[in-house]
Order: sequence, then C-alpha cells, then structure tokens
Amino acid sequence: MFLAIMGGKKLWTIGGGLVVALVAVYVYIGVDVSPHVEFVPETTALPEDTVPDPPSAYGIPLSGFILEQGKVKPGATFSDLLAPQGIGGGTIDSLVRMAASVFDIHRIRAGHPYALIFTDDDQRMPAYFVYEADQVDHVIFTLRPPMSVTIGKRPVHTEEKSLCVAVTGALWNDLAKAGADPAVAMKLSEVFAWTVDFYRIQKGDRFTVVYRERTVDGEPYGDPEVLGVRYQGAFTRDAFRFAPDQGELAYFDSAGNSLRKAFLQAPLKYSRISSGFTLRRFHPVQKRMKAHLGTDYAAPYGTPILAVGDGTVEKAGYSAGNGNFVKIRHNGVYETQYLHMRKILVRNGQRVQQGQTIGEVGSTGLATGPHVCFRFWKNGEQVDHRREVFPSAEPLAAADRPAFQKVRDELLARMDEAEREAAQHTSTATF
Ligand SMILES: [Zn+2]
Repeated sequence: MFLAIMGGKKLWTIGGGLVVALVAVYVYIGVDVSPHVEFVPETTALPEDTVPDPPSAYGIPLSGFILEQGKVKPGATFSDLLAPQGIGGGTIDSLVRMAASVFDIHRIRAGHPYALIFTDDDQRMPAYFVYEADQVDHVIFTLRPPMSVTIGKRPVHTEEKSLCVAVTGALWNDLAKAGADPAVAMKLSEVFAWTVDFYRIQKGDRFTVVYRERTVDGEPYGDPEVLGVRYQGAFTRDAFRFAPDQGELAYFDSAGNSLRKAFLQAPLKYSRISSGFTLRRFHPVQKRMKAHLGTDYAAPYGTPILAVGDGTVEKAGYSAGNGNFVKIRHNGVYETQYLHMRKILVRNGQRVQQGQTIGEVGSTGLATGPHVCFRFWKNGEQVDHRREVFPSAEPLAAADRPAFQKVRDELLARMDEAEREAAQHTSTATF
C-alpha cells in the first residue's frame, strides 16, 4: 500500500503503480566541461503488484474506515483540527492530558501532514487522528473509548551502496544518472574539501564511492553518509571514514593521514572560477591589462563565504576597489582576503574557524557581477593558492592503525568491485 499526499488532498492507492514525486535537490558543483552522456545505466522498472495489500495506514487497519489526509494550516491548533469533526472540548482536554507524556500538542506545526480516520457508515464517526511529527514519528490519537495516545514509527531502511562514475558534466548529474542521491555530490565535496580542487575536475575523471543511505517509504531520510571514496584524475586521492578511539569520526587517506588540512581548497562550496590568478589579464571594469593576484569565484548574491582556515580577522572594512572585504591572518606565514562582499559577518580582531561563514557574496567595489575575489598571501607575498601544498593535520595514532586498516581494506575491496562492474557496463555500452 502506498500513500501519496498531494496538495493537502487525500489520495491513496492500493498496490501497484507507485508514483513517487521526487523532489530533486539540485546541488551544483561547478565543473566546466560540457555535459554529454557516456553511459546510461539500465533502469529496472518496479514490478506491478497484482494482489492488493489489505489497506492500512499508520499501522491501523482501514477495513470499515475512511481515511482523509491534509496538512496543518498556519496557526491551526490541536482543537482547531478536532473540534470541526464534532469532538467536544472535554474529549480534547483529555487527549491533551493523555498526550503530555509522549507528545506536546503545542509542537503541532503548520505544513505537517495529518490524517483523520472515520467509520465508513452513515454516522461517519471520527475514530483516529494521526499527526506526522516527522518522516519517522507519528502520533496516533484514538478518539473513541478507550481513548489513547501512542507514537508510531515508520521503519527506516538503511542500505550501503557503491558505484563508480565517470565525470561527464556536473558531478551531481552524473551521480543522479548512476542512481545515487545527488546529495552524495555535496558530501564528496565536503570529504575532499582539503584535498581535491573541484574546479579542476576534468571530463573522464572518476569517482568511486561507497556510501550509506537511509530511506523511509522510499524517500531519502537524512543525508547520505560517504564511507569511502576514490578520486582518479590527474592524480588519485582516496578517503576512508574512520572513528579513532579518542577522537571524532573523520576521513583519512590509505596511509592513515587525516584529510583535514590547514586550508580549504576554496572559500565557497559551490561556484565556478570566473578568473584565475595571473600576472596579466584585461580588467573588465578598468578596461586595461593588469595583474590579477587572486582567484575570482562567481556565485549568486548572498552565497556564504567561508574562512579557508582558522585565524584572526585582521581587517573587516570597505575600500573603493575592494568593496566590503575581510582579511584574515592564519599564522605567521599565511593570510587570506575576500573581496566584494554584499555583507560582512565578522569584525576586526575576531577569531574565526575553518569553514565559518564570514560574509556573503556581493559585487561591492570594482566588480561587474556577484563574485568573491580570493587572495592568498604566503610570507607577505601574493601567491596562487591553487598551486600551494598545504600542511596536513595529525595522522592516526599507532594504536588506531589495526582497526583503521581493517575498515580501509573492506572499503578498498568494495571500491575495486564497483570499478570492475562499471568497466563491464562501459565495455558493452554502444554509442
Ligand atoms: Zn579578482
């Protein structure tokens, strides 16, 4: 049985013909290569059910009942939902009291789905009210004596998957074509935030990923978790998720070195490079040849700008050329600067952490459109950060190594398997 809630109206179908309205979360990861399809995986259609399941909803058998579903309207209270069904104030008060130990009825929120279940007879008596607190939990109010309030849970399905994709265009698109939740692309950019420059990914580069995905009734539940990943391009990088005995869950390379580095590869998560570091370029506003001692990342107005490393704000201010800008001193060697902000979110002297939002993308100062001009100093000299090799965080302790190696070897075997499978598909594909 399958329930689809559409536009606040009830719609439930029994058995086959599942129509899942997929809300695709489009995560754009800028890869400047034109998309073309190299391999389209075969899709297997869901088998049509021929024998309908006995109807039930929220674990309540629906034989002899009618189900009506809706969404809580803004400002609606528990009694607004029940009183129009002819349920008296005394009954509502009792239900509120009975609910107290399992659910606070003041937590009913607009937009959440609810269901009313009536007897399927002339009287059409309300028998149950069900409020969906989240994707998993629902509160079941039994409205007829003996009244009760219980919490029901939908099962969460966890599945581990592996795949290998060749980059043909935007990474999220390639992952989606391979059947993965596009959110995996976002997770990959986080895992490799220190070690892979996502602006340098080329067509034909490959990602092999082992990940864990949770679903409730076929819908994604929470973010996917990347367990292991291998990137193969101009160089190879791999990452294995591991929890050291004393320490947080983190990603390590095959030698047990933390992937965490002193600096992120870029100050924005998703954007594209509109102008690289160069000693000569035609300045779009000043209309003359000029050195460009920074890297421009184009992104929509308001995109969060991240501190690429821990440090102290040396200057947060405005100048005619730079617009609103922030300069951060990271240590005795490195400084970074972020220009043309719409909004500055830090102040002079403030300590900032790697990945912290320090401002919003804008076009203040000499800028033709919304972008961040990112500048990087090493020992007081402006350098191209994309050519720098950054220092790493601490490697794994010796005591953690045997457990790590076990995790790593299992993941490596699954990645190899995924690559073999992808190679087979590719060799039989026709173009
Ligand atoms: Zn610039």
